[in-house]
Amino acid sequence: MKLLANDGIDPVGKQMLEAAGISVDTINIPQDQLSEKLQNYDAITVRSATKVRKALIDACPNLKLIGRGGVGVDNIDVEYAMEKGVAVYNTPASSSASVAELVFAHLFTGVRFLQDSNRKMPIEGNTKFNDLKKSYAKGIELRGKTLGILGFGRIGREVAKIAFGTGMEVLAYDPYPSTTELEVVLGGGVTAKVPVIYVTKEELIGQSDFISLHVPFSEKPVIGAGEFNQMKKGAALVNCSRGGTVDEDALLEVLNSGKLSFAGLDVFDNEPTPRTDLLQHPKVSLTPHIGASTNEAQERIGVELATLIINYFKQ
Ligand code: NAD
Repeated sequence: MKLLANDGIDPVGKQMLEAAGISVDTINIPQDQLSEKLQNYDAITVRSATKVRKALIDACPNLKLIGRGGVGVDNIDVEYAMEKGVAVYNTPASSSASVAELVFAHLFTGVRFLQDSNRKMPIEGNTKFNDLKKSYAKGIELRGKTLGILGFGRIGREVAKIAFGTGMEVLAYDPYPSTTELEVVLGGGVTAKVPVIYVTKEELIGQSDFISLHVPFSEKPVIGAGEFNQMKKGAALVNCSRGGTVDEDALLEVLNSGKLSFAGLDVFDNEPTPRTDLLQHPKVSLTPHIGASTNEAQERIGVELATLIINYFKQ
């Protein structure tokens, strides 16, 4: 069995596959050469960069399995692959904790203006130090504030657990609410069960100090001008879900008007080159779609993927 890990795979996952007799190539073949080169392989694993579309599946009749290291499978024509008898696997749970921590990196950044001080202090230097310091002196705490979590799936629930640990109130909205209470690890081996408060989308938007988005990709933004209008003045938004879920024009408008105090963004309409007015905005904390990019998550993803692939080829 030959596997092409086109967007790489964690060394632990690679070792597991090789120990099971599967040969793994981690060379990165450019998208336009894949239809020719992938013909020599039985399986391919991708992250978000490589696309496995209908034409590529048609060009590779030997292909038996497509593995996606991560959650979103919008870079794979899943239904078509399955029609053709090609198995498709993703690793939905492995990165949730890492994405949830990144949400808090953005929240802590925004409430203390780190995104702006990190940019300006090295440029303005000591000459303007006092003015700069004054402008960053009106931070606020997260403790006691309300976090609205839109999309209460795997990542949304991990975000809630951290929020409870930080002393925040949590409101949740999900069209398919399931979990009614969460077990929060408090350290020292102590855990606590905390009930989840579900509200309507409108209530969540109107009552939250911070809103964090954890929904799947959708053609139409989940947060647009209408939703921004319903938010509290000075509210903030974090989006570590998928580009396209927030209307970026509307976002810029409310950042500029002062209605929104800041935004934390890991995902964008145009990746990897988002629009510059967002990239340079003093109220935007930026990360380049690295929600799942921790050593721990990548190892869990590699192990989960390797286990799925080994089990598939054992059948
Ligand atoms: P999940 O499927 O476990 O949860 C998504 C939840 O959203 C579901 O409970 C669903 O019912 C709910 N939902 C669907 N449409 C909704 C809507 N319009 N409003 C409110 N809720 C809605 O998925 P997950 O693992 O929690 O992942 C959430 C998102 O995070 C996905 O878009 C995924 O691709 C993305 N993600 C991003 C990164 C990153 O690097 N930033 C990493 C992993 C996952």
